[in-house]
Amino acid sequence: MTLHQVESFIAGRWLPPSGDARLIHSALTGQPMAQVGRAGPDSAAMLDYAKTKGGPALRALTFHDRARALKALALHLQDRKQALYDLSFDTGATAQDHLIDIDGGIGTMLVMASKGRRDMPDDQVYLDGPVETLSRQGSFMGQHICTPLRGVAVHINAFNFPVWGMLEKLAPAILAGMPVIVKPATASCYVTQACVRMILDSAILPQGSVQLVCGGLGDLLDRLDGQDVVSFTGSAGTAGQLRSTPNLMDNAVRFVAEQDSLNASILGPDAVPGTPEFDLFVTEATREITTKAGQKCTAIRRIIAPHGTTDALIAALSRSLDSVVMGDPRQDTTTMGALISAAQRDDVLAKAAQIASQADVVYGDLTPPPHPSGGAYLAPILLSCPDPDTAHHLHTVEAFGPVATVMGYTDLDHAVALANRGGGSLVTSVFTHDTDVARQVALGAAAFNGRIYFNDRTSAGESTGHGSPLPHMVHGGPGRAGGGEELGGVRGVLHYMQRTAIQGSPDILAAIGHRWVPGAAEATGPAHPFKRRFGDLAIGETLHTPARTITVQDIETFAHFTGDTFYAHMDDAAAKRNPFFPGRVAHGYLLLSFAAGLFVSPDEGPVLANTGLDNLRFLDPVVAGDALSVRLTVKQKTPRNTDYGEVRWHVTLTKQTGSTVAEYDLLTMNAL
Ligand code: NAP
Repeated sequence: MTLHQVESFIAGRWLPPSGDARLIHSALTGQPMAQVGRAGPDSAAMLDYAKTKGGPALRALTFHDRARALKALALHLQDRKQALYDLSFDTGATAQDHLIDIDGGIGTMLVMASKGRRDMPDDQVYLDGPVETLSRQGSFMGQHICTPLRGVAVHINAFNFPVWGMLEKLAPAILAGMPVIVKPATASCYVTQACVRMILDSAILPQGSVQLVCGGLGDLLDRLDGQDVVSFTGSAGTAGQLRSTPNLMDNAVRFVAEQDSLNASILGPDAVPGTPEFDLFVTEATREITTKAGQKCTAIRRIIAPHGTTDALIAALSRSLDSVVMGDPRQDTTTMGALISAAQRDDVLAKAAQIASQADVVYGDLTPPPHPSGGAYLAPILLSCPDPDTAHHLHTVEAFGPVATVMGYTDLDHAVALANRGGGSLVTSVFTHDTDVARQVALGAAAFNGRIYFNDRTSAGESTGHGSPLPHMVHGGPGRAGGGEELGGVRGVLHYMQRTAIQGSPDILAAIGHRWVPGAAEATGPAHPFKRRFGDLAIGETLHTPARTITVQDIETFAHFTGDTFYAHMDDAAAKRNPFFPGRVAHGYLLLSFAAGLFVSPDEGPVLANTGLDNLRFLDPVVAGDALSVRLTVKQKTPRNTDYGEVRWHVTLTKQTGSTVAEYDLLTMNAL
C-alpha cells in the first residue's frame, strides 16, 4: 500500500517527509495511511522567508487590501471544499462535522474579511479609541495606534479541527499584516496540508505569508523574539510545556493559549420536564456529546441540573442517545463518527474510568470491545455523580470524546459554584426562560468563562449552539482554558499588533493616523466640499459657513411643525426653573437642521446620502438672538466599494460668543 507523503512548505518549497518521519493511521480502519515529519525543519530559513518576504509584502497592503485577499481566499476554498470533505472522512469526521470544521473555517474567514472592511480603515495604522486631550490648550494630545508586529505568527493547532483551527487564526493574523507558520497536529495534518496547498496555489496572498510545518517544529521556538507570536491550541499539558520554553519567557514572546476546558451546562430551576427549555437542553447536550465524537474543546463535559430533575434528565438523555447512529462517517445515516485514533480512544476510556471512580456509569460502557472495522469508534458514555462537591475528577479530568457527567444542584448559587469548579472554561451554557436566573448565573460565572450561552424558547430557533465559537465574539477562557482570547472581530486581530501611545501635536497625530484631529491644520479646497468627489477631498479640508441668527419665530415654527413642544422650548418661566437652561431655548434638532441648511450644497453632486451622525453632543444652550455658524471638516475617508466611499466629517456648531454649541461626526457616502 502506498502511503501518502504529507509535505511541508518551508521557505518557499514543498518538502517531503524525511529523517524521523511518523506514520498516521486512518481513524476508520486503523491502517497506516500517511507519513509525516522532517528531521529538524530549517527554522532559520523559515523565519527569514517570513520576515523578509511575507512580512514586508503584507505590511505594504492596507487592512482593506488584506481583507479583500481573505475574502478571495475564502471563496477559492469554498469552490474546492469537496476535496477537503473527502480527505476529512479519514479523521473520523461526519458530513455534519465537516460543516463545522471546513464550512465553519471558510465562514470565519469571510466574517473576518468583512470586519476588516467595515471596522478597520483602508490604511496601515489602526486607531484604537478616540484622541485623548492631554493639555489645557489642546496643543498636546494622545492617540493609541496599533501596527503589525514585525515577526512571525507561529500557529500550533489541535487535531480536532484541521481546517477551522487553522483558518480562524490565519485570518486575523493576515488581516493584522503578520506572516504565519502553521504547525497542524500530526494526526490530522493531511487535511490541513491540502487546505494550505489550495491557499498557496491560489497565489492570492503575497509570497512568504504562509508556511506549513507538518511534524515537529525543530528549534523554531528557540529562535523567536518579542516581535513574534505563538498561538497554541491543544491540551493544558502541552501548553504548559511550550509556554515555559526558556527562550519564550526570556524574550516575553506573546503566547496565546487555547487549552482544554471542562465546560458546563446548567439546566435552570424553571426548566423542569415538560418545558421547552428541558427539551432544548436534551437536544443540545446530545449534540454536544456526539458532534466530532465529543472531540470538541467547547463540548459539554459537565451537566448541572436541579436535584429533583436529574433522574428525568438522565432518562431523557439516554433515550436521545439511543437514537445516535455511530459508524462509517461516509454513510448518510451516520450521526457520529470515530475518534481520531486508537490511542485517543484508549485515552478517553482511561479518563472516563478516572471520572467513574467518583461517579456511576448510567449510559454506555467503559470497557467496550474493539470495533470490528479496526476504527477508533467509541459509543457515548454518560456518568452521574452523586456528590459533585467532594468528587474532583469530573471537574479536572478532560475525557476528550463522547463523555459527559450529570450532577445535581440544590440552588442556583450551588450550580454556579459547581460550574466554576472547572477552574476557568471556554463556555458555560444555561437553559432558562427566567431572566433573573440568567442574570444571577452571569454575575456568578462570567469571571470563570470566556463565553456564556443562554438558550430558551425565544432564541432557540436562531441560536448558534453551545459549542460554536463565533468570529464576532471572543473565543477563549481564563485559567484552565488557557487565559487566551481569539476571534471577537477586531479584538482577535490586535493580538498580532503592537498598541502604542502616540503623544504630540494635533498635526502630528492627524498625519500619523490619517484622521483629522481638532486643532490640526485646516485646508481650503478649490470648491465647496460637497462638490468634490471622494478621491479629491483632502483630510482637513474645511468649510466655514456664515452665521444664521435664531429667532423666537424659528423656535415656534419648528415646535409646531415637528410636534416637539417640550416646555423648555415653549415656556420661558418653566425653562428657567430647569437647572440647564437660562430660559426658553432652541431645540437641539433645530440646530442640527439649521446646520445642514448652512453647510450643504443643494445641487446634485458627489454626495450621495447622509448615512448618520456619531458622537453627537449638545454643549451650550442656544436662545433666540444667538447666531449659529458651522465648521465642516473632512475627518476620515473609508472606501466602501468601487463606486463610493464613506466620508466622516467633523462638524462644530458655534455661536457668536465663540462657544461651541454642538459637536458631532457626520457620515456621508460620496461618489469616488
Ligand atoms: P496536544 O496533544 O496538546 O497537541 C496540540 C498541538 O501541539 C499539536 O499540534 C501538537 O503536535 C503540538 N505539540 C505537542 N508537543 C509539542 C512540542 N513539544 N513542540 C511543538 N509542538 C508540540 O492536543 P491535541 O491532542 O492535538 O488536541 C486536543 C486538545 O486540544 C484537547 O485537550 C482540547 O480540549 C484542546 N483544544 C482546545 C481548543 C480551544 O480552542 N481551546 C480547540 C481545540 C482543541 P503533534 O500532533 O505533532 O504532537
